[in-house]
Amino acid sequence: MCESDVPRPAGADAPFARGLGEIRAGRRTVLTAAASGLAFSTVAGLQPALAARASTRKRAYVLVVDGCRPEEIDSGLTPNLLALREGGLHHPRATSMPVMETIPNHTMMMTGVRPDRSGVPANAVYDRELGDVRTLDQPSDLRFPTILERLDKRGLSTGTVLSKEYLYGIFGERATHRWEPAPIVPISGHAPDEFTMRATLDMIEEFDPHLVFVNLGDVDRLGHSDLTGPTTLEAARRLALLNTDRLVGNFVAELKSSGRWEHSIVVVLADHSMDWSYPDRIVSLDGPLSDDPFLAGRFAIADNGGADLVYWTGPAADRDKAVRRIRRIASEVPGVLKAWDRRAGWLRLGPESGDVVVFCEAGWRFSDPDVFSNPIPGNHGHPATRAIPFFIGGGHPAVPAGRVSSRHARTTDVAPTVGAFFGLKPPRGGYDGRARL
Ligand SMILES: [Zn+2]
Repeated sequence: MCESDVPRPAGADAPFARGLGEIRAGRRTVLTAAASGLAFSTVAGLQPALAARASTRKRAYVLVVDGCRPEEIDSGLTPNLLALREGGLHHPRATSMPVMETIPNHTMMMTGVRPDRSGVPANAVYDRELGDVRTLDQPSDLRFPTILERLDKRGLSTGTVLSKEYLYGIFGERATHRWEPAPIVPISGHAPDEFTMRATLDMIEEFDPHLVFVNLGDVDRLGHSDLTGPTTLEAARRLALLNTDRLVGNFVAELKSSGRWEHSIVVVLADHSMDWSYPDRIVSLDGPLSDDPFLAGRFAIADNGGADLVYWTGPAADRDKAVRRIRRIASEVPGVLKAWDRRAGWLRLGPESGDVVVFCEAGWRFSDPDVFSNPIPGNHGHPATRAIPFFIGGGHPAVPAGRVSSRHARTTDVAPTVGAFFGLKPPRGGYDGRARL
């Protein structure tokens, strides 16, 4: 489902409100960049320690072009991204990981581990304690240490510039420096790339973090609203690609003019791809499952656009029987690609993702609990949205210029790549991903 439609916590639990609370409580210090008026918060009491921080000129920048399809880099609309790709190390065989949604793949990038270890399998889950579906946007939802705080412990500073409210929420106070979009942008759940890139450049100028993690949300946002389907790239998305690419061009120019380029790697990827569905290609599982007397009233569904997570809420002793029935009934619904027992070894989604994970076919979407719940034609989460762009540019000698790798790169590879670049040891238990440099 489009992230903006997933229920959000209200009041003090809402991500931006909680961020303001952290600032008011004195846990973070706010600095406003004079020229732009953008606000950043920094771990309180950090400044005197900064001087003693590790001195390396190495810098790593991770730019996520949210929802970008790999072929869009070849569309002629993104000359700056193409130049970064051609001038660096390109991984044409690259994929998002299940569930192919924004929050889990951003957390996989920064932890380097799969959801069964991080606790973050999807955007929306059914919270058994709460008794309701909710967005995974609380810092406590992410249980594995990210590369952000692991670098920070080593004396290297980090920054997050995240354009979406729930990403700001789940990454919480982990970075040394954080962009505070709330005072600037009306709370729409997403800040335009123009602001996000301005904030990225200001953060680099003000704080010069060793690692900066950036989410550019426009391409995804304008993909969700595209009503024309897969046959035509609608004008808004084309404009978003052009504009985001222009901003990436500015970013590279700034790295070069400031002398940072020679010391930098720039990892560019997407968190998932994008697929479009027509209004008559909607899968709603609530009805067929409710029609079964054994299941009726004893299940919950968390709709993630291209994937439905189904939770058995009846007695634990009946779980195996329920899983079999849910899988059988869901498999017969038109538009369903496959209904998996969540415990299938390859999924590695963890118990937060429920009991049965149902993916839709290309060109379809889930809409639960009813056919009006998800009106968004552009969706992701299903296997059709696995392919992503993935390349590493930058002027640091570690980046092989103009090389194409035949290896399969994944979103889990970002933390290992950045960690290896800075000489950081793998976390306890190792990464699930691999360094790609
Ligand atoms: Zn996304």
